[in-house]
Amino acid sequence: MKDIRTLSLDQLKDYFVTLGEKPFRAKQVYDWLWSKNLHSIDEMTNLSKDLRDKISQEFCINPVSVDQLQKSTDGTIKNGVKLHDGLMVESVLIPTETRTTACVSSQVGCSLNCEFCATAKLKRMRNLEVAEIVDQVALIDRQSKMYFDRPLSNIVFMGMGEPMMNYKNVVEAIRKITKPEGLGMSPRRITVSTSGIPKMIKMLADEDLKVKLALSLHSAIEETRNEIMPFSEKFPLDEIMDSLKYWYQKTGNVITFEYCVWGGINDNDEHIKALIKYCRQVPSKVNLIQYNPIGEGKFDHRSIKSEEKYVRELTKAGITVMVRRSRGADIDAACGQLANKTSD
Ligand code: SAH
Repeated sequence: MKDIRTLSLDQLKDYFVTLGEKPFRAKQVYDWLWSKNLHSIDEMTNLSKDLRDKISQEFCINPVSVDQLQKSTDGTIKNGVKLHDGLMVESVLIPTETRTTACVSSQVGCSLNCEFCATAKLKRMRNLEVAEIVDQVALIDRQSKMYFDRPLSNIVFMGMGEPMMNYKNVVEAIRKITKPEGLGMSPRRITVSTSGIPKMIKMLADEDLKVKLALSLHSAIEETRNEIMPFSEKFPLDEIMDSLKYWYQKTGNVITFEYCVWGGINDNDEHIKALIKYCRQVPSKVNLIQYNPIGEGKFDHRSIKSEEKYVRELTKAGITVMVRRSRGADIDAACGQLANKTSD
């Protein structure tokens, strides 16, 4: 049976017209599906029982469900989310004093091969549907209200998968999340994180979505980057920079570079200089992310001294740098740890 959420508003209208119903029925159903995130046709109370039955004979709704919920001592909640075909992704709620951020997945597994990321160890199984992305946001919004008494405030596409490799559905999901007739959230509070696919960055800039962009850089030296993020051989840093300039020109939004410092890999002056030179080419800031171990020995050498040096040198060069504390590491909910590993 077909999921009714694969229909556009126009397709819904056509459907109701063929049933001999008024086209405004489409708007009512659309509102239940995309604004209220309702998962039951039978609960669409402004439709007659007869009409609800007719719709149910033709369509289903495939909601995601929380299969396992783990809470970190720091308040972070990791959801093992089950999809209608039994596959799993993970969605994380990250609370701070003032905000709640949802970290959502865009693919089951990932086709990229970043050596430091746990998700890369799962091969890519499939892209998430639009509704599966929106459901993660809606479910974390409900959890935020339930556990923290406030609605979700921010969304980051930093869960499993590479958002640019599921481009069409991610863009459509963002539209559904931000439109007033959808969840009505502000696009300025949404960040799409990418490991850097220049063509797609340009395309996203052209969508006029008003979202923010983060680029997982980790090294501004081509050779090192190719070594730790092998897929990036196809995407030279200069080409990525071109696309970032285009992004800034089109959106006026500053780019965030995500960066981990690893002893023996990028903890030297040459790397710091390369990063400064790279950042200076486009309005940007740097988020130094604390590495979360995934059992790959070569990345396990943390050097706090080098991190401090990065902060000092970047600041001296006039570049905004923030050090991001790791959240939810005790339940493997932190960056790069999402790998469908459960507590049992
Ligand atoms: N594929 C997208 C989004 C998912 S990853 C991307 O690459 O941007 C979200 C962020 O976590 C990325 O910046 C990624 O480089 C980083 N990351 C991956 N593994 C990590 C780890 N083990 N510790 C800390 N950060 C990690």
